Amino acid sequence: MGQQIAMVMDLNKCIGCQTCTAACKSLWTDEEGQDYMLWNNVETKPGRGYPKNWESDGGGWNGDRVRYGRTPALKDHGSEVGLNHQAVYFEGSEERLQRTEPLEYGANWDEDTSSGEYPNNYHFYLPRMCNHCTKPSCLEACPVRAIYKREEDGIVLVDQDKCRGFRQCNRACPYDKVYFNYVTKTSQKCIFCFPRLEEGIAPACARQCPGRLRFVGYLDDVGGPIFKLVYTYKVALPLHPEYGTVPNVFYVPPLLPDSFDENGNFSDKSRVPIEYYRELFGPDVDEALVTLKGEMDRKQQNQPSELMDLLIAKEWKSLFNIPDVRAL
Ligand code: SF4
Ligand code: SF4
Ligand code: SF4
Repeated sequence: MGQQIAMVMDLNKCIGCQTCTAACKSLWTDEEGQDYMLWNNVETKPGRGYPKNWESDGGGWNGDRVRYGRTPALKDHGSEVGLNHQAVYFEGSEERLQRTEPLEYGANWDEDTSSGEYPNNYHFYLPRMCNHCTKPSCLEACPVRAIYKREEDGIVLVDQDKCRGFRQCNRACPYDKVYFNYVTKTSQKCIFCFPRLEEGIAPACARQCPGRLRFVGYLDDVGGPIFKLVYTYKVALPLHPEYGTVPNVFYVPPLLPDSFDENGNFSDKSRVPIEYYRELFGPDVDEALVTLKGEMDRKQQNQPSELMDLLIAKEWKSLFNIPDVRAL
């Protein structure tokens, strides 16, 4: 196996603007049958996410055997809302939306909805895409071997000519990041922008991100930011590691202001319950949070912190350690 491409997202910097979602959507999923697909989506956590309640759908591995879960239904991704461009812009109509029946769900249905009790309520944004897993259950589940992992960079792709639409990958991916195209009758998913990567250009979702929170590089590139965040500082963690697919998208957990005590002063109690951090990022999150807090304190006291400088990423090119990164 050659190198493995990876992404680290610093959730402390995500503002939920959906620029990444729009960048991916306009580049890769504007064809027939792809209307509902968001290969990249950004959901509010805690929340049901996209597709609805994906964390309850199952999938992943049970030891060395694929654990098959539920196939997400089209409606779990929410209704599409057509816009009356012609009527509004050229005919003066006020009927903006091309629908009359009520909406029941959408990709951003829970957006900005907090959990917990005021004034200690909390939420944060979680951008999601295919994790280009080291142990992809989608690949193992495909009965016609239409899914493959590229030798040179570990990107997981669905061969559109081979796919027969059995949808076993849909059942096997615990992140619900395979999408069925109801027109072509094939499964489709994030391609880690491989045509851009091959030109030394960062994936669209990462390059367009105004929060500068997406690092892209090779996992085993010892001097690179990905290696430092994942292995040296151990502050970048996979989402739901217990699913067993060994993801190559990692997250720096979000530090929110501490809770208020009964007098309205900051206490030393975490606003996000530690159980919830562990639920998302596994047991290693405890140590990651301690490291992040410690380094943040150092920086605030004007002491040097390589980790904080890395995460702040004042210079955008420092986010990307892929050959021949060029300005767009
Ligand atoms: Fe496959 Fe899902 Fe892993 Fe992507 S996230 S490689 S679709 S198992
Ligand atoms: Fe979309 Fe490319 Fe980002 Fe994948 S890497 S989510 S294909 S923009
Ligand atoms: Fe978050 Fe960046 Fe996506 Fe905006 S573009 S939602 S800041 S990851």
